[in-house]
Order: sequence, then C-alpha cells, then structure tokens
Amino acid sequence: MDWSKIDLNYLAYPSCTRCNGRGEWGEHEGSPLPCRCALRAMFRVCYERFRACVESGRFRSRVSFERSPQGRTNRGCWGRKDEEYLADFELVARRLLDPWRYKIFRFHYILGADASLCCRRLGLSRGAFFHAAYRIEEILGEAFATLEPYALYPPRDYFSKRLTEPVRATPQFVPQPIAPRRGRPRSAELLRNVLKIA
Ligand SMILES: [Zn+2]
Repeated sequence: MDWSKIDLNYLAYPSCTRCNGRGEWGEHEGSPLPCRCALRAMFRVCYERFRACVESGRFRSRVSFERSPQGRTNRGCWGRKDEEYLADFELVARRLLDPWRYKIFRFHYILGADASLCCRRLGLSRGAFFHAAYRIEEILGEAFATLEPYALYPPRDYFSKRLTEPVRATPQFVPQPIAPRRGRPRSAELLRNVLKIA
C-alpha cells in the first residue's frame, strides 16, 4: 500500500514521541512508513465500524446488491456487507495473532471485557495488558490497511467496493444457416423415391 503523508499526518497521535505527531517513521523506497500511532488509529477506525455493525443487529442480515460499474449490463452479486466485515475482522486477527495475543483480543475487543477484568481473568499486570493491547492494535491496523483484494481500512471503501473483475460481453446472437434435415425423409421425398423405383 502506498501511504500518503497527509493521511498519516491526520492519523498520528499529536503527542507521539516517536514521530512527533507526523505519523511517519522513516521511508521505504520513497514512500513514508507509518508510525505505530498511525497504525493504532487505523485499527481503532476499523474497530469502531466493527462495533457499529454488531450494534446494528436488526439490519445485519440485510442483503445488498453490488452492481458492477462496467458495461451496460446489470451484472452484480448479492451480499451481506455487515456480516462479511465482521467475519473478515475476526478472521484476520485469528490468522495473524499468536494464541496469547488472540486470547487478549477476544476478551477485550470481541467480548468487550474492560482492562481490569482482562487483567484479573488472564493474570496480567495493567502495564502488560496495555502493552499487549497496543501491539495487537499495531499488528491489526497494518494488516487491515494492506489486506488484499479488499482492505478493511478505510471501512468506507470496503463498504462501497465494486466488482472490479472485467465483465464479459454478452454473446451476440448470430443467426446460423439451417442445416439440411437429417433422419427420416419427408413424405414427398419418400413418395418420389417410391415412384423412381417403380
Ligand atoms: Zn507516532
């Protein structure tokens, strides 16, 4: 993903001592690398959308139609965006986090346990819990932004994604010449053959 300096600056934590509120931390092949504070901000944006999807349970099973912008046909597909977003959010975390961090993620972010309850349940000090939570947010923030083909960050793009696969043109109808009839001859031909023989 090509990071934009303006976006990173917008996402940065103003009092971050690592990037001094600029949101970038060095460069790689001419493009800025995001600071940890910007990655955490990306995660929190996605997490806010995740919570909104969970809380809108009444409409969660609503099916929406995604129309392809290419061509003049009405091609598209049906989908459940909210449910897909919830599933992707959880699946990315399960794949990327080690078992210990995934346990914290599940307790704190999915089940909604606060810091003191997580510390008591997982036997962690408050500092260790917040250190782990920050690291989880950094890992997932970067993953959500670089996920392909459809990144979870920014959620606006995820929910307004369109089918990008090229639409195959509708085959044109070309009239084919009628092939000579095979099989049993018609009664007129049959009669003619009989007369020839006779
Ligand atoms: Zn920073």
